[in-house]
Amino acid sequence: MLSAYVKPFDNSVVKALFIRQDGSSFLKKNTINSIIMKCNDMVDSFKVISFVVGLFFSVFVEAQTPVYFNIVSHNEITDALKYESSSVDYNTIRPIVKEVCDTIIAKHAKYNMQLDANFIKAVLKWENAATNPNDILEWANNSPYIDIDGHNHFDKRVNPYNYSDLAKLLDSCGVTMTRKVLGSNWAKSTEIWTQYQTPKAGFTFKNFYWQPEIIWGMASPGHVNDLNVFGIWKPTSSNSLELFLQHNPDGVLTAIGGGCNGDISYTINFRTGQLVRTTDEVIANIKSIVDYIQTLPSGPNDFYTMNMLINFRDMPKIPHFADSIGVIIDGLQDYVDQGKIIWATLAEKYDLWYAQHTDPEDYFNYDCEGVTLGVDETIPNEESIAIYPNPTTDEIHFSLPQNTTIRGVEIFNLLGEKIYSQNHLHSLSLSGFENGIYLIKIENDKGSNLIKKIIKE
Ligand SMILES: [Zn+2]
Repeated sequence: MLSAYVKPFDNSVVKALFIRQDGSSFLKKNTINSIIMKCNDMVDSFKVISFVVGLFFSVFVEAQTPVYFNIVSHNEITDALKYESSSVDYNTIRPIVKEVCDTIIAKHAKYNMQLDANFIKAVLKWENAATNPNDILEWANNSPYIDIDGHNHFDKRVNPYNYSDLAKLLDSCGVTMTRKVLGSNWAKSTEIWTQYQTPKAGFTFKNFYWQPEIIWGMASPGHVNDLNVFGIWKPTSSNSLELFLQHNPDGVLTAIGGGCNGDISYTINFRTGQLVRTTDEVIANIKSIVDYIQTLPSGPNDFYTMNMLINFRDMPKIPHFADSIGVIIDGLQDYVDQGKIIWATLAEKYDLWYAQHTDPEDYFNYDCEGVTLGVDETIPNEESIAIYPNPTTDEIHFSLPQNTTIRGVEIFNLLGEKIYSQNHLHSLSLSGFENGIYLIKIENDKGSNLIKKIIKE
């Protein structure tokens, strides 16, 4: 590892120009009193051979704050394809998964493939993964561009395999879950991360204990208050959003935020059956988020992390799915070339952060709220449904665009617990509610949801 230690004058802006072997350059900026630049915060392929530091009246063009970016996929125990019991179903998904992997590898993107037991057991069955060194999971995991992780909802009633069981199952395929990513809710629920602060036994493999190092995902019950933040930190507790985002230097689990992942997934809305956004919209949204970050003041702990979600269940439904992923990756290439996007798996983000931050007090998180997006017309926006007055002491009213009606309204507290639900209404009284902040979820007649904060005072 090559490190450059730079000690500039007070408040001066340091811009370092890193020159790669191929002669192209990469800029980094910091506005603090003393910075440590470690060259391993650039992707492997950038062999840094020299650097130039400019102080004060630097003539370099605008420097970039990178977003560490990856693709994440889920498969679910509830997927319609019966991977394990039907070879036809397995052979429907398998070539698409392989094509997605080939595309990601060819284009040097980074991918965390997160799997539940039904898919892992299918690979064990149909590809003899226990003895076959070339089964799709072992093959993919051996690529520097792909990590295989578990994905699960920790619910014994629907799935006898928890994360510890997934680790054991993957291990039997020749995939050691060394990097230990836990997808979890941040708020209280059966899927709460706090039960994994110590090694946890499997539901099925009762003598097998596993403990994650990374928490990722951080949805909320019913997806009503999913966390959309950039950064890396050790959460304090699951009792409130504030405490979850509060860094605990003594914590054992490191959270990695998905950035504005809710605005950039390439998925099908399971209720409407429609693509949430096109490849062009995904690219435009990612770029406008990355551009927005460039406008923020930079600091020593800047660590913007983001990921794009794809679902196994959508792969057979979107024609040429892997080509679409290729289009998105290609569409981001100019930002990769400019150093604004750096592809990194979740484990690489973790390693990059801890290589640069040995002080346990260091952390970074930044809310996605307030980031302005480019194209995103399929999701109802702030203007499409107005809620007034807000804050309110009693009644709230909804105003809607013409030709739109409300199908349902639900209200949740900040722990994600549903405390009110009603269909087809245009106003409601909060007189029975305690003063405080609530989340209101409004579903329109087209099946789209809008979630807003309301304040009762
Ligand atoms: Zn899931």
